[in-house]
Amino acid sequence: MNQPATPALPVQIQQLSKHFGSLRAVEDVSFDIRAGEFLTLLGPSGSGKTTLLMMIAGFSRPTRGSIRIADQEIVHLPPHKRNIGMVFQNYALFPHMSVGENIAYPLRLRKRGKAEIEERVRHVLDLVQLGGYQDRKVSQLSGGQRQRIALARAIVFEPRILLMDEPLSALDKQLRETMQIEIRKLHDRLGMTTISVTHDQREALTMSDRIAVFSHGRLAQIASPSDLYEKPANRFIAAFIGESA
Ligand code: ADP
Repeated sequence: MNQPATPALPVQIQQLSKHFGSLRAVEDVSFDIRAGEFLTLLGPSGSGKTTLLMMIAGFSRPTRGSIRIADQEIVHLPPHKRNIGMVFQNYALFPHMSVGENIAYPLRLRKRGKAEIEERVRHVLDLVQLGGYQDRKVSQLSGGQRQRIALARAIVFEPRILLMDEPLSALDKQLRETMQIEIRKLHDRLGMTTISVTHDQREALTMSDRIAVFSHGRLAQIASPSDLYEKPANRFIAAFIGESA
């Protein structure tokens, strides 16, 4: 199972907006995400990153605009029909269920058979380096282990796209750096298109193929980490990226 079962897919965001009353949380955002790319949405708190991610995941309906996966419009599809895996901020694991039951949940939703579920749960636990943890209770796990379980649950049904909302913000600095490398390796191995949200410049520069910088709901610049650092489009980006130094 080292080869991805399905090829990575590109995502196209076109003129996407989300308004809450008079507040323009996301305003007229357009960009493409390449198949297999690791893209980070970066920006200060309140710049619209999570709102954009929630629209891609299907938990928030755009005010206007279009989201396509490989040319197929998805804005009208419910979350479970989008073939998207999601790691939520603070993980959103079910505390009363075992590790195995947490990871099996997306497979049960999709009515997979018992043998396949057992096999896939074992496989993804190995991938996140927690082989043999099926029967543990979530409440007995450390922060880093919970983060790995959330990741395992997000990828267990082999989604074409992986979304992560501040996946490392609950971890201490040292563990954060370890997990940055591990998640990036897993992304490369599985070949999924990944979109991750962070307000941490260093994390974005370390993990991403490209970074989309947001300011007040608008896309300020999208570029590779080195281009962003060397050729910031304006003073806001120069100052914001400069804070990581
Ligand atoms: P970020 O993820 O960059 O911190 P958010 O996308 O969470 O930013 O928020 C962008 C703006 O939209 C903020 O001003 C926030 O208060 C507002 N916002 C987000 N969700 C809602 C909501 N459900 N209702 C009203 N305002 C919201």
